Amino acid sequence: MLSLRNLVKVYPGPVTALRGVDLDIPKGMFGLLGPNGAGKSTLMKILSGLLEPTSGEVMLDGLDLVRHPEALRPHLGYLPQEFGFYPYLSGQDMLRYLLELKGVTAPQGLKALCAQLLERVNLTFAAKRKVKEYSGGMRQRLGIAQALAGDPKLLIVDEPTAGLDPEERQRFYRLLAEVAHERTVLLSTHIVEDVAMLCPRFAVIRHGRVMAITSPTEAKAALHDTLFEGTVPPADMAAFQQAHRVTQAVLFEGRNRVRIHAAQGTPVPPGFERTQPTLEDAYLLLMKDAPEPKAPTAPTAPASAPAVGA
Ligand code: ADP
Repeated sequence: MLSLRNLVKVYPGPVTALRGVDLDIPKGMFGLLGPNGAGKSTLMKILSGLLEPTSGEVMLDGLDLVRHPEALRPHLGYLPQEFGFYPYLSGQDMLRYLLELKGVTAPQGLKALCAQLLERVNLTFAAKRKVKEYSGGMRQRLGIAQALAGDPKLLIVDEPTAGLDPEERQRFYRLLAEVAHERTVLLSTHIVEDVAMLCPRFAVIRHGRVMAITSPTEAKAALHDTLFEGTVPPADMAAFQQAHRVTQAVLFEGRNRVRIHAAQGTPVPPGFERTQPTLEDAYLLLMKDAPEPKAPTAPTAPASAPAVGA
């Protein structure tokens, strides 16, 4: 179990990126969903030992990771948002280099470990190809291979599906779901589909605060019978938005199809029909209801724990 208690991060500025995050994350896949700037990467960097929190506690199975960051290293795999590759190395040489950098040792030798890891992420067929010839999805799988070295208890993946085409994304989902059987996988994303596909539980984060901890099923059930869909001419949209809680407006066969949330007893506009809520509806409503942080942001750290820059 990974437990976060009152985690605060204030960058110089000051910019308060995390405003007291409390989370208990069990084994399996757990999502961290929020828009850009919500504080996800800050949280992931703190959990991966790259950034010191201003205050708060991070415990992994009883280990205090803020006081003893070195204790985390053997248990952690991290796939950062920006992953640097040497394009002219082959996949297997790149992986070996990354494992050497990490200080991974293997009783059977690094060559054999690399072969095993490449097999694990379905890249054996491309082991000898240069990384520059890899697709986005293959690069992400190579990133997962290095993160899995040492069989970590905790795997952190930061926005891993951005830039993957639909087929690569599906393949990558399957790999992540498989590796989450054996460990905690924390998946940070702003893509609702990532969470819908993968996460039995997830936290919604905005302005450095946890807005909700829920499951895709629970989040949709909470909107049962309150979602309606109809067509609104684009010219009427601004006034319509003032009068109704719009979750989404998308073009469908050239028409402006609009989804609204109308709680029991609220009048529904003519022509609108009840529809099944989606996780996207639930997420967008949560975002609409999120209070804006008080400006200006001020550090909340105790004097004894100075802010640490990235
Ligand atoms: P996300 O990953 O959800 O997009 P981030 O954790 O990157 O969010 O950023 C959260 C907030 O912290 C944003 O307002 C961002 O501008 C700010 N921030 C991130 N890194 C730094 C930094 N090194 N210095 C100052 N502010 C930062």
